[in-house]
Amino acid sequence: MIEKIVIANRGEIALRILRACRELDIKTVAVHSEADRSLKHVLLADESVCIGPAASADSYLNIPALISSAEVTDAVAIHPGYGFLSENADFAERVEKSGFIFIGPRPETIRLMGDKITAIEAMKAAGVPTVPGSDGPLPEDKSEIVRLGRKIGYPVIVKAAGGGGGRGMRVVHSEAALLGAVSLTRAEAGAAFGNSTVYMEKFLENPRHVEFQILADTQGHAVHLGERDCSMQRRHQKVVEEAPAPGLTEEQRSFVGERCAEACRQIGYRGAGTFEFLYENGEFYFIEMNTRVQVEHPVTEMITGLDIVKEQIQIAMGQPLTIRQEDVRLQGHAIECRINAEDARTFMPSPGRISELHVAGGPGIRFDSHIYNGYLVPPYYDSMIGKLVAWGGDRKAAVARMRTALDEMVIDGIKTNIPLQQDIMEDAKFAVGGCNIHYLEKKLGL
Ligand code: ADP
Repeated sequence: MIEKIVIANRGEIALRILRACRELDIKTVAVHSEADRSLKHVLLADESVCIGPAASADSYLNIPALISSAEVTDAVAIHPGYGFLSENADFAERVEKSGFIFIGPRPETIRLMGDKITAIEAMKAAGVPTVPGSDGPLPEDKSEIVRLGRKIGYPVIVKAAGGGGGRGMRVVHSEAALLGAVSLTRAEAGAAFGNSTVYMEKFLENPRHVEFQILADTQGHAVHLGERDCSMQRRHQKVVEEAPAPGLTEEQRSFVGERCAEACRQIGYRGAGTFEFLYENGEFYFIEMNTRVQVEHPVTEMITGLDIVKEQIQIAMGQPLTIRQEDVRLQGHAIECRINAEDARTFMPSPGRISELHVAGGPGIRFDSHIYNGYLVPPYYDSMIGKLVAWGGDRKAAVARMRTALDEMVIDGIKTNIPLQQDIMEDAKFAVGGCNIHYLEKKLGL
């Protein structure tokens, strides 16, 4: 039994975790930086601990401070949320070695999936479709690299095994540029990730981003909760997400979903996780797995009626999944608009005090956010201040509800990207559905 959880995060996800804990009758400890004393979940938590100055490196990424806060408050478990230390295997290991439960997969699993080459190998072994590529690290031998490039066919993408956050990759359009690109990516990867191993795969020109949500317990059961389409992106950052993915057939869903669940069984996965794919011409290509809860988990919750964060906690308590695959029924359609404190045209961050807040409501509307009237959005962290989610019986109904909700929303005192989201919801191609990952940037003229 878990009686008390340290929430090792901030903002909307920290509040989301707090709410799940409340429903499960679990006490909460909010850890926060000096700049975050007035975060909503800090004010609502049973206990709070200041873990350092505003800079994330000194607070939310400060492993000893996080472990100490669990010790001094007699907590049992630590929930890492997303971002920060959520996919740091060393952190998960330190948490477990200190005698606490890490609400997430085993450290070995995080490590396996954190290296893209070993992740791809594990997925292949489970029959998950991957991108044609070098099947492992690129060798030193130059002629061998050139041979691999020819075999895969141009364009190719050279990627760092330890890369993340959209960094450490380079697209190569012709053989003449290949060897130069490989040495550059190796050097950059070594400097940025401390691991200069690179691999190569086919570069897909116009894919969509489709990802599968899974849940796996410690008894060896795993289910998938269908997929999300997150193709509306700017600089590899998701802007709008939806579930299900427009146009996907039930056969595709159950085939790929079941392969993902099987991969979880094979690697002894524990908790919630996401398999990210590029989807082009009806084919899926695995690119990476995220071993944590995702920002966009609410769209899946809206169409399945499940609570993914509560499931994470129950799995961490050693409870078996209460649902079987046949119990997972997808109903209707859900869309999420990320609401950021930034200029809708220039994308310049816009921290500051919220002078007036009126939150949209009505049937099928959900707003996951920590902001309130008078809240000061600090300049030190990610600019996302909330997620507006709309559910409808079908995609058209969900879009109509989202439009209404965006119009209703009032956030004054700072700039937000609401005008951009309104623009997307009015877009004729978005209305049809199935835009690829380049669509938004092209629309914005970037
Ligand atoms: P990261 O861990 O840095 O997010 P990913 O492997 O998830 O890296 O790739 C990030 C993004 O880069 C993808 O969402 C996609 O836009 C692009 N990308 C990665 N691999 C390919 C590929 N083989 N073909 C086309 N685009 C790719």
